[in-house]
Amino acid sequence: MHSEIVFIGLGNMGLPMARNLLRAGLSVTGFDLVKENVAQLVSAGGVAGQSLAQAVGAAKVVISMLPTSQHVIDVYCGEHGVFAAAKPGTLLIDSSTIAPKVAQENGRLAAEHGMEMIDAPVSGGNFGAAAATLTFMVGGSEKGFNQAQPYLQKMGKAIYHAGPHGSGQTVKVCNNMLLGITMIGTAEALRLGIANGMDPKVLTDIISKSSGNNWALTSCNPCPGVMEQAPASNGYAGGFGVDLMLKDLGLAVENALDTKSSVPLGSLARNIYDMHSKAGNGKLDYGSIFKMLGV
Ligand code: NAD
Repeated sequence: MHSEIVFIGLGNMGLPMARNLLRAGLSVTGFDLVKENVAQLVSAGGVAGQSLAQAVGAAKVVISMLPTSQHVIDVYCGEHGVFAAAKPGTLLIDSSTIAPKVAQENGRLAAEHGMEMIDAPVSGGNFGAAAATLTFMVGGSEKGFNQAQPYLQKMGKAIYHAGPHGSGQTVKVCNNMLLGITMIGTAEALRLGIANGMDPKVLTDIISKSSGNNWALTSCNPCPGVMEQAPASNGYAGGFGVDLMLKDLGLAVENALDTKSSVPLGSLARNIYDMHSKAGNGKLDYGSIFKMLGV
């Protein structure tokens, strides 16, 4: 049985995104190295992919949600990878967060094979993935952007065309560098207030209506007990992992070197998350940086 969509990478983000495509009535074949992830897609009405090359060869659209640049290169550029196996005209959507220069190169290779490819990284976390409220930041041609709309709309609610290939990744890298920095600043401010005897809920309420307001404070407050749904109130489980934030800050620093940009706070934030990860916190939500600043 051939599906319209092949979805590669059914992890924290990919699985709920693929489920939303199924819910919208589209047919989806899923691939993942972890068999249980594929089984979960099948129980939601999807098809288990047997051979990547065969499934991709029959698909209209390929969507990927993989951890790093190297995973994306392996899946797309390998001997039996997507570029080799998909037919000309297939639409390729990579939603992984990867280096802008890799996305640019992939866009060029896709065009060589007669395919449109867009980089379409997301913001919104696994909560947004499950609720189909992701923000998509798209890099690629106008044609690719328009072709992808019907699919992206089933998984997100804000869809932006940032510019040519790699632009979506550039916006994502800038956004996550800012988020990584503001989370550390937010944790510092809360710690300082608490050390002065303040209730962190009162601090949060007042700062959220003042000039220090930011997303880390109001959507994933790092102090346990302030927000019931935040990972901080659940042992920092789920959410956005320290190691993924570390990867994104690494992309920012690498890009700054390539473009001769100064990112002093981005570099410092990368080092802080690196030390936090090495202390055994890599799988915890990035708000756990609050623990590091504890007395
Ligand atoms: P994840 O590790 O949960 O999922 C990645 C999946 O890819 C895994 O299930 C893994 O088995 C699979 N995989 C790896 N190599 C593969 C291969 N060769 N073939 C098939 N499957 C393969 O990661 P995630 O949290 O879903 O994140 C995916 C991407 O989305 C990352 O680039 C991340 O930075 C980005 N992102 C994550 C979040 C978040 O909150 N988790 C938010 C925004 C963006």
